[in-house]
Amino acid sequence: MKIPTKVKIKAKTWTLNYDKELLRDDHNYGVCYPTKLKIVLDATQPKDQLENSFFHELIHAIIDSSALRTDLSRDLNEKVAVTIAEDLLHVIRQNNLDFRK
Ligand SMILES: [Zn+2]
Repeated sequence: MKIPTKVKIKAKTWTLNYDKELLRDDHNYGVCYPTKLKIVLDATQPKDQLENSFFHELIHAIIDSSALRTDLSRDLNEKVAVTIAEDLLHVIRQNNLDFRK
């Protein structure tokens, strides 16, 4: 999967950046900054993990861009991001889904 440098969610454009110390210093594969419309991914993680981290932070960004932002507790927000990111990526890979065709 080619991970984009920008993602448009509704009317707002989010940017994706990489950091080489995120995992080492903060034990995070990725971070979502809703007020900055920014997602940062650790550049040192393996490709499969990077794709999962991208989906995970994307789910956080989508939640923040919706009414779910105020409906979900922090714990539930995290559980939704973990579950949907892993399971959606699994379904895409298992079925060789390619939405560009
Ligand atoms: Zn998370």
